[in-house]
Amino acid sequence: MITRKSKTVAVKAVVFDIGATLVTGPPVAPNKIIASVIGCTTPSEVAAVIMTQPLFSPVDAVAALEAKFGPLSTDASRAVEELWNSQANAAQEIGGSVETVLTLKKRGFKIGLVSDIWTPYYLSVQRAIPDILEVSDAVVLSFETGRRKPDLFNFNRVLEELHIEASEAVMIGDTYEHDILPAIELGMHTIWVLARPEREKDYIVRLLNADSPTPEFTVLDITQILHLPLFCRDRVTTKTSLSEV
Ligand SMILES: [Mg+2]
Repeated sequence: MITRKSKTVAVKAVVFDIGATLVTGPPVAPNKIIASVIGCTTPSEVAAVIMTQPLFSPVDAVAALEAKFGPLSTDASRAVEELWNSQANAAQEIGGSVETVLTLKKRGFKIGLVSDIWTPYYLSVQRAIPDILEVSDAVVLSFETGRRKPDLFNFNRVLEELHIEASEAVMIGDTYEHDILPAIELGMHTIWVLARPEREKDYIVRLLNADSPTPEFTVLDITQILHLPLFCRDRVTTKTSLSEV
């Protein structure tokens, strides 16, 4: 028989992923595009270059890629420059995300952001959701720390900057492996925004088979989170877990 155990937990802060949680952008990630242009490398290897250091121009980006992968062809260099320019204008607010974050801020929650991101796309994010950046108490970016999810480093960094314990924070993101699983590991509350279910199929199956820990809540888009008991006015909620008896 399955029963629910409950404990009272005070929530003080809300930490958001950015891409596909607060903003939308091109359907194909920049590291995948660059990997296909360069050839003989993987999107993950490219991400480890472009998302873990500050880059100030397309020339900078090409130099960083060449330092890792060797000289780029003229066509590849031009493709990186074109990608940079398109990424710098690509982000768009997911409808209602600004209002949702501002509402949480007004309710007294601290706001944090944790993102794996490269410089031009972050410039685009700054233009797309300036009000969210304005009210954020901590912003932790991979190109500034040199670390990427699911590494716990950036999660711990944002908790430190917010001056709270993991159990006092809610992590909200669209990627189970990179946003939700590490947050569960740290003891944060979790809300999975299932904005791109086709990309999460493997984890949906694992969860249905009880092979991976479940998020505390799952929603279809960011605007649904305000109705969750985590964010009731007195900021005290009931964390529920299942157990066999
Ligand atoms: Mg994301």
